[in-house]
Amino acid sequence: MAATHCPIVRPVSEPWDLTDEQSEIRELARRFSDEVIAPAAPAWDREHRFPAEVFDQLAELGLLGINVPEEHGGAGAGFVAYTLVLEELSRGDAGVGTTLAVHIGAGTMPILAHGDPGQIARLVPPLARGEELAAFALTEPGSGSDASAMRSRHADGRLTGTKQWITNGSHAGTFVVFAREGGDGDGDARDRVSAFVLRAGAPGFEVTREEEKLGQHSSSTADLAFEDSPAERLGAPGAGMRIALSTLDGGRIGIAAQATGIAQAALDVASAYAKERVAWGRPIGALGPIQEKLANMQTEIEAARALTLRAARLKEAGRPHTIEGAQAKLFASGVAQRQTGEAIQVLGGYGYTKEFPVERYFRDAKVTEIYEGTSEIQRLVIARALLGDAARA
Ligand SMILES: Cc1cc2nc3c(=O)[nH]c(=O)nc-3n(C[C@H](O)[C@H](O)[C@H](O)COP(=O)(O)OP(=O)(O)OC[C@H]3O[C@@H](n4cnc5c(N)ncnc54)[C@H](O)[C@@H]3O)c2cc1C
Repeated sequence: MAATHCPIVRPVSEPWDLTDEQSEIRELARRFSDEVIAPAAPAWDREHRFPAEVFDQLAELGLLGINVPEEHGGAGAGFVAYTLVLEELSRGDAGVGTTLAVHIGAGTMPILAHGDPGQIARLVPPLARGEELAAFALTEPGSGSDASAMRSRHADGRLTGTKQWITNGSHAGTFVVFAREGGDGDGDARDRVSAFVLRAGAPGFEVTREEEKLGQHSSSTADLAFEDSPAERLGAPGAGMRIALSTLDGGRIGIAAQATGIAQAALDVASAYAKERVAWGRPIGALGPIQEKLANMQTEIEAARALTLRAARLKEAGRPHTIEGAQAKLFASGVAQRQTGEAIQVLGGYGYTKEFPVERYFRDAKVTEIYEGTSEIQRLVIARALLGDAARA
C-alpha cells in the first residue's frame, strides 16, 4: 500500500441517478484527483505551496467554470456536477477544493447572479475559462459571523478598509468585496452594505499577509487592505448583505461536498489499512471495534453525500435551498471532523505520523466547520426555519 495515498475502496458509496454527463464529469475529476492531485498533496502540505499549475490543468479540463453557462465561457454542466467535482478534488487535496469552491461558488457565482449584462460579459468569461481566479471578501478582523458589523467603506467609487482570511487572496484577479456606503460611517443602520468588484493591481490595494493555518496548506488565506481603491458596484446599492447571504447559501453546499470528499479519503485509507495491518495473527479488519468504526464512517459519509446531493439538486432546479444547504454543511463537516479522527484511530500510531495522509485529512477537515458559516450559525439557520419568531430572543 502506498504510504501517502490509497486507491479508492468504495463498495457501495455512489450517488444515485446521475445523468451520463454528470457521471462522466465525476469520473474525469476522480481520475485527475487520483493521478495528479493526491500524489502531490503531501508535498504541498509540507511546503505550504499553492499549486498554481494544477489550476491551469483544471482550466484546460473545463472544471474552473464547470457550472457556468456556456454562453459565459463555462461548461454549463450545472450545480450538481460542480459538487461532484468538488467532492472528488477534495478527496485528493482539501486545499484544492477550497480554492475551487471559492473561485466558483463564492467568487464567480455572485457576479453571474447580480452583475449587469456588461459586467457579466466582461468579468465572468475569464473566470469561467480559468484565466484568473476569483475571491470573496466579506470577513474583517472585527466581523465574522456578524458580517454586518464590517467597517470597510465605499464612497465616490473608491474602497477603503481591510479584509481578513480571504481565500485565494494572494492569487485572485477578481475580488467580490463587501463594504458600507452612505450614512456617516459610524456603523449604524444608515450605512448600508453593498457589494463591489475590485481587480487585483488596483491602486491602493495590497495583500498584507498570508495566514499560517492548522491545515489546508495548499490554499491561500490572505489579509487584504484597500486605500481609496477603485471598485465598481455589484448589484443594487444596499443589496450587499442579501448578495453575501445568498452566495453563502449555495457556497455551503460546496463545502458540504468538500467535507464529504475529505471524509471519503479518510475511509479509503482506513479500510485499505484494516485489510493489511495484522495484529493477533489476523488483519485488524477482523476485529469488531475496527469493523464498527469503518461501518459508522461509511454510513455517515453516505448520509452526508445524500444531504449534499439533495441540496445541490434543489439549487440546480432553482428551488429554495437555504435550510437544506445548512443541513448538508452542518452534517457533512461534522462527519469529516469526526471520521478523520476515527481514521487516525484505525491506523493507530501510524495514523498520527506523516507516513499516512490521515493526519492531514484531520487537520484539513476542521475548518469545514468554520468557514462559509460556522456550525453554530448553520444550526441557527435551521432552528429559525423550524421555530420562526420563537427562535428570536
Ligand atoms: C481557512 C479560512 C478561509 C476563509 N476564507 C474566507 C473567505 O474566502 N472570505 C471571507 O469573507 N471569509 C473567509 N473566512 C472567514 C470565515 O468565514 C469566518 O472565520 C467565519 O465566518 C467565522 O467568523 P469568525 O472567525 O470571526 O468567528 P466569530 O464570528 O467571532 O465566532 C466565534 C464563535 O462564536 C460563535 N458564534 C458567533 N455568532 C454566533 C451566534 N449568533 N450564535 C451562536 N454562536 C455564534 C461561532 O460559531 C464561533 O464558535 C475564512 C476563514 C478561514 C479560517
